[in-house]
Amino acid sequence: MIHHNLHAENCNNKLFTTLAYADDMVILLRKEQQLPVLHQVLHRYAMASTANINFRKSNLLPLGHWPPSLTMANIPIKDFVKILGMFIHTDIKKMIELNWNPILNTIRYMFSKQLIRNLNLIQKIWNINLFILSKVWYIAQIIPLPEDVAQRIELGITYYLWTGHIYKIAKSQLWKRTEQGGCGLIAVNNKSKALLIQTLLQRKIKYKNSITSKLIDFTLQHPIFRRIKMCLNKIPERLLNDPESMTTKEIYTSLLAVKETIPSIMTKYPNMKWKRIWKIFTLPNISTDWKTSAYKVVNDIVPTEAKKYHHNITHSPLCQHCGSFDTLHHRLTTCRPVVWSWLCRKLINASHTDNPNDVRRTVLQLEMPNHSNKFALTWIIMGYLHYMISDNNTTIAGLQKLLMEAERNLRRKGRNNLLIIENKKNILNI
Ligand SMILES: [Zn+2]
Repeated sequence: MIHHNLHAENCNNKLFTTLAYADDMVILLRKEQQLPVLHQVLHRYAMASTANINFRKSNLLPLGHWPPSLTMANIPIKDFVKILGMFIHTDIKKMIELNWNPILNTIRYMFSKQLIRNLNLIQKIWNINLFILSKVWYIAQIIPLPEDVAQRIELGITYYLWTGHIYKIAKSQLWKRTEQGGCGLIAVNNKSKALLIQTLLQRKIKYKNSITSKLIDFTLQHPIFRRIKMCLNKIPERLLNDPESMTTKEIYTSLLAVKETIPSIMTKYPNMKWKRIWKIFTLPNISTDWKTSAYKVVNDIVPTEAKKYHHNITHSPLCQHCGSFDTLHHRLTTCRPVVWSWLCRKLINASHTDNPNDVRRTVLQLEMPNHSNKFALTWIIMGYLHYMISDNNTTIAGLQKLLMEAERNLRRKGRNNLLIIENKKNILNI
């Protein structure tokens, strides 16, 4: 009814007039003459439905050339209103602050509160992408995220991911996909820009040559959109020419690719078969606890005594268990010779090799041989790495207990056949 009556006064019926969501209603008036029409319509509705409209609970936001004190039924005049969880202010700078400051505070609070939960690196990243930053993704579709707020959110992410750790993995690596050596952590700045660009460009294409399209061009001239405009230049032509493929994901990927970096461990050991190594982290049916531990081993961020000594964090490089030089190699092999030989026996049987060097390389560098036992080998090695770097008092019985528990989990999912190797035996029984 409102829509119909106001359009009689409107010059362009394609323009936005009303938005109704649950018991909230937003009405946009473009001319002063529409005010008495609206009043009349609302009055007629109240008479017909016997429902009383509480005008004191409504707000009027004067935009553009609207006379600052013109209202109806004493509706309070405000300089901002909240629509669908978003603050709309007459001043764009204040609108940005009003929206982002409370979100930043909530996110900081969530990061510190979420630390109590004992999540591993991979679970924490899921939590950030899907839960903690969900409000950011919602607002960023409409309101530009200021650079300083993005930086403060990134600091919060680092704090949440790495509190209690001595060595970290660079965020530029975590941003990459798993098969490229990363963990799929979303880069806040780029994702926010991609969301806003997607909103603007999709509308520009949809309302081609209309006033909406011209409005978007005009908006992009505002200094606040300078960075967004700069990003537009980085989007490949192929995307700009094909609106169908212009998803947020595509835009995000192209923005992220601009400053592509190589993980530091790949620069340090360029001759390793990295593509194959990263691929095993995409294998399903291995717990994220195990994968996180293996990821720390591969990226060489396990805080051994030798490493800490090298960085002046401790007084001695010697192993607290046996007194040898405590490197990662030592911790995973020679420190507990009995547990190590137990694993070697399994690996030799399942990987058709009797060369101890091959076995050592498979465990320390996760260079899995490409044959049908690949899952069983990866599974047992990741379990071993997890056990060896998270437990101080390691024994064969302890390792077997951990592996058997994981095997039960696989059986519950009906996937225990994955542990059967070529000679039809379970890898734990050879
Ligand atoms: Zn030792």
